[in-house]
Amino acid sequence: MAFDYLIVGAGFAGSVLAERLARIDGQRVLLIDKRPHIAGNAYDHHDEAGVLVHRYGPHIFHTNAREVFDYLGQFTEWRPYQHRVKASVDGQLLPIPINLDTVNGLYGLSLTAQEVEGFFNAAAEPCERVRTSEDVIVSRVGRELYEKFFRNYTRKQWGMDPSELDAQVTARVPVRTNRDDRYFTDTYQAMPRRGYTRMFERMLDHPNIKVMLNTSFADIRDEVAYDAVIYTGPIDEYFDYCYGKLPYRSLQFVFETFDLPQVQPVAVINYPNDQAYTRITEFKHLTGQVHHKSTVVYEFPQAEGDPYYPVPRPENATLYQRYKALAETTPGVHFVGRLGTYRYYNMDQVTAQALTLFSTLTGRSRRERAAAPVGEVTSAR
Ligand code: FAD
Ligand code: UDP
Repeated sequence: MAFDYLIVGAGFAGSVLAERLARIDGQRVLLIDKRPHIAGNAYDHHDEAGVLVHRYGPHIFHTNAREVFDYLGQFTEWRPYQHRVKASVDGQLLPIPINLDTVNGLYGLSLTAQEVEGFFNAAAEPCERVRTSEDVIVSRVGRELYEKFFRNYTRKQWGMDPSELDAQVTARVPVRTNRDDRYFTDTYQAMPRRGYTRMFERMLDHPNIKVMLNTSFADIRDEVAYDAVIYTGPIDEYFDYCYGKLPYRSLQFVFETFDLPQVQPVAVINYPNDQAYTRITEFKHLTGQVHHKSTVVYEFPQAEGDPYYPVPRPENATLYQRYKALAETTPGVHFVGRLGTYRYYNMDQVTAQALTLFSTLTGRSRRERAAAPVGEVTSAR
């Protein structure tokens, strides 16, 4: 059988494109993944105890893009969820992002919002040009809070000092002078009610989409007929590392199930300083599942292993630009997604990027690109 598209990778990037091309454009799509499951890094499943867990670490959906939220809402109901994280620092569990309560709790103070702004200003080290992940934090809250909450966490997570990483990495975490302890402030914050994998199953349930798991691009590229490739794996791998390897950071996930309904007070506790792992996540806070047992995951950063994080720093951006230029002169293949475009993107950003590629490929307008086909019921089943 001949396909219009061979899509490599069944994560957000590949699955959104498969769904759009098949359902809206009538294209025949072969979607492959080398893993034994769909949903990419967002994959979730019930573990041996029956607890719904995220195999590749905690995935919390949040976006300001109504288009993305509504688009995915065609395939899932949503469960409202506001994410909260504590950091274990100096023997206390304190809110992160740093806010008024973090400072008051850490130093035994009772500052007001206005006073804490003065506190930050007094401690901050002005910086002419905020360039690195160290600059972002030190120029806002000073060196002491930087060292307690950011320096060691970042060194563990990335295997390098914050001064060697682009500002965008630690800039993901804001600093607040009020008592808002939510991790995100996006307009839409929710979890797919029956999990990510279920949402992906709905997306891919179409007669024009054939899914092949346990299949790598190398296995199939010369075995089937197709007109074009959409590639969501690492771009450097596609080109056989011809300019050298793009660095990615990996993680080891260690799961532990407790014979307790609840293990920790919030979904995620960060351990910046004292442990080899960066954070512990208890899934039931995220999923809302009711169960007499509970499973947590510890994240141990490592250099080798599955590529989870592109590493944002200038020399890597330069190397990526060379691969991107090569991609632009290679006909018949389109790169998209966190690995395909070497960007530290969240799920919603990857979804938006995939919708944009869909409009580019099909000439559909921005207004049309995320909508359900005319006449179809759009509410999630
Ligand atoms: P992926 O999900 O990585 O999918 C790519 C797929 O391609 C993979 O399944 C891979 O097996 C397959 N593949 C690669 N190469 C080949 C090949 N040669 N042949 C066949 N298949 C191949 N985002 C959020 O919005 N909120 C969060 O809370 C959040 N938490 C995260 C926590 C962790 C620990 C990590 C690692 C990421 C997190 N993210 C989060 C980011 C989120 O995982 C990504 O934005 C999203 O999954 C990217 O989708 P993708 O399709 O680009 O890539
Ligand atoms: N970070 C930190 N301390 C924290 C939380 C985050 O130093 O308590 C830094 C760290 O470098 C991390 C980055 O901020 O990689 C972005 O944090 P985020 O929670 O967005 O990371 P992700 O969920 O993508 O792993």
